[in-house]
Amino acid sequence: MRAVVVDRLGAPDVMELRDVPAPTPGPGEVRIEVEAVGINFADVLAVAGEYLTRTRVPYTPGMEFAGIVESLGEGVTGVQVGQRVAALGGSGALARYATVNAAALIPVPENLSGPQAAAFPVSYFTAYHGLKTLGRGVSGEWVLVQAAAGALGTASIQLAKAMGMHVIALASTEEKLALARQLGADVTLLQDDPDRVRKVRDAAGGRGVPLILEVVGGKRFQESLDMAAAQGRVIVIGNASREQANLRPVELMKRNLTVTGLWLTSLMTDHAATAEAARALSALVGSGQVTPQVGPTYGLADSARAFQDLLDRKTTGKVIIEP
Ligand code: NDP
Repeated sequence: MRAVVVDRLGAPDVMELRDVPAPTPGPGEVRIEVEAVGINFADVLAVAGEYLTRTRVPYTPGMEFAGIVESLGEGVTGVQVGQRVAALGGSGALARYATVNAAALIPVPENLSGPQAAAFPVSYFTAYHGLKTLGRGVSGEWVLVQAAAGALGTASIQLAKAMGMHVIALASTEEKLALARQLGADVTLLQDDPDRVRKVRDAAGGRGVPLILEVVGGKRFQESLDMAAAQGRVIVIGNASREQANLRPVELMKRNLTVTGLWLTSLMTDHAATAEAARALSALVGSGQVTPQVGPTYGLADSARAFQDLLDRKTTGKVIIEP
């Protein structure tokens, strides 16, 4: 079968399309015919060797995907051959077939297409945990969403609005801000607006923002603290700038701020939190209240270009690769 293979870590152009043997499902695993792969910023970092876990080469990238169950390994129950599923595995999805532990399958509401299903797990579970599980956002409260037109950003706006929250969206271009408004953002601002800290604080009633989803990091992390309201919660979800941030604990003390880290991979081991998120998200997606935003779609041979476009901030919604 055709698969993308990475032999050495680096920029996206290290990815090569090759013929490799199709994987066989081991005990507890299922083999899936891949329909669509959702590309995350984490995939780009993993290929560069800069992700939170060590990338072992050679490997086939692709952690989030949707497809049709093609065969079952020993001992798998509760999954049918022919069923459409989404999956959140470690890697291996940029290929015709991928195997994944049955425990990593995510129920997908029937009204989603393959690409929409592939755009769902990472962004929506992360947005839910950021806004609700860890962020404890409530109806009527303001939330700041950075990189608002991206995969996580669009999911966060939709979920926040469904929760009755008011959204301030930051993004790098007017086109991206227009998408944020279309999804329900109440206030939109260019992320390089020279007066952005004051404008964000003013938008949230002059007192700053009670909940901030921080995904850029570096010097922007300090800005997030400056934009936060007293007793505000800053949920650290990403570091798209790939720069180090400084944190002075005394500053948190002075304004009673809370900074909380969020990594979906480790939060998935909290089965109660995952089940609660799955229940809430299935209801919202099933009723059409939120719809995964499918972004630009590429073929397997254009995988390197897809990764580079995500890195170059050219994309909105979830970047999809269809093998
Ligand atoms: P996106 O689709 O949001 O794409 C990344 C976006 O980040 C860009 O479009 C860009 O938006 C913004 N950005 C800001 N600064 C930079 C920069 N210096 N270089 C590149 N991009 C920049 O990707 P994802 O939805 O996959 O991820 C968004 C963030 O959330 C990432 O930091 C990612 O690592 C994190 N994340 C973390 C998870 C977790 O479990 N902790 C799970 C999912 C995502 P703009 O042009 O508008 O600035």
